[in-house]
Amino acid sequence: PVLTAVGPGGPETIEARAVVLATGARERPRTARLVPGTRPAGVYTTGELQQAVHLFGQDVGARAVVVGAEDVSYAAAATVRAAGAEVVALVTEHPRAQTGRARARAARLCQGIPLLTDTTVAELLGRGRLSGVRVRHRDGRTAVLVCDTVVFTGDFVPDHELARRGGLALDPGTRGPAVDGALHTSRPGVFAAGNVVHAVERAGTAAGEGAGVAGAVLDFLAGKPWPEPGLPLAVEAPLRWIAPNRITPAAPPARYVLRTSTPLTRPVLRIHQDGRLLHSERPGLGAALPNRPLTLTARWTGRVDPKGGEVRVSLA
Ligand SMILES: Cc1cc2nc3c(=O)[nH]c(=O)nc-3n(C[C@H](O)[C@H](O)[C@H](O)COP(=O)(O)OP(=O)(O)OC[C@H]3O[C@@H](n4cnc5c(N)ncnc54)[C@H](O)[C@@H]3O)c2cc1C
Repeated sequence: PVLTAVGPGGPETIEARAVVLATGARERPRTARLVPGTRPAGVYTTGELQQAVHLFGQDVGARAVVVGAEDVSYAAAATVRAAGAEVVALVTEHPRAQTGRARARAARLCQGIPLLTDTTVAELLGRGRLSGVRVRHRDGRTAVLVCDTVVFTGDFVPDHELARRGGLALDPGTRGPAVDGALHTSRPGVFAAGNVVHAVERAGTAAGEGAGVAGAVLDFLAGKPWPEPGLPLAVEAPLRWIAPNRITPAAPPARYVLRTSTPLTRPVLRIHQDGRLLHSERPGLGAALPNRPLTLTARWTGRVDPKGGEVRVSLA
């Protein structure tokens, strides 16, 4: 593959036998979420907020509404408080917070941060600086929260622009490059690792994949042939996506990660191929929540018929 890059020395072209795409993920900003209203200052994503506070020591206002109630939302609330501002509320369209009970309880009871569930942001208000956000409850009621800062958190999308421009096959669920267990993409010589293949997992997962993909890169550079694309691995609703999402029996992953779009109580996952049940597994004792990692072992991968059809993961 040939990469076109722009750096301090200007544009350059880099030719490499192997490339690892690790371009990460970003939170969808207000514009991508199509939130109507004015265009005032004081509108952030968590990434922008953390840079403003921790890198540049900027003033981020006095009263902030945090949109989202997942782990990164609670991290954003902590950043707001570290900057000396008040968190007016956490607002989530879901019926409950998507974080550990202890963290949700500590924010509500110890820090006095209200959690508005089943609620969306309907409009941003204010000229020059944000003056408030209009929120709408699922039952139609609306209210205005007075604030000068709003932080849109979570709702991650992979930074897949390079992958798209390089013509890599994308997975319809993750919207990142489709990869097999050893993180081969559809294009020989191009690997992908980290949050570009699963937006998002914790930093440790991304780092582990980075270390793991090095072995596959070395094998390839030493002459190991690029594997066939393998079979697609797809999920059925309410599951949203799974990664890795191509199956080459010679390259099983350490494990699979998935997401659900609705809360699930003690879910059981089933893996089928052409109507044949390959495996059934309860991935933990508790509930599975949207925006939180759900994992599936890979020990069934050897039972896949490489000449068969698509492999599907569904709920029992
Ligand atoms: C706001 C936010 C908060 C988070 N908080 C936590 C946390 O508290 N704990 C935790 O464990 N994890 C957290 N995560 C997740 C954590 O950041 C990731 O798991 C980890 O950093 C992912 O590593 P990565 O290498 O996949 O991507 P990243 O660390 O995002 O790195 C991607 C890199 O690729 C670069 N890049 C992208 N496109 C191009 C291009 N075209 N050309 C050149 N360079 C490019 C980017 O500039 C970036 O430097 C957070 C993520 C975000 C976005």
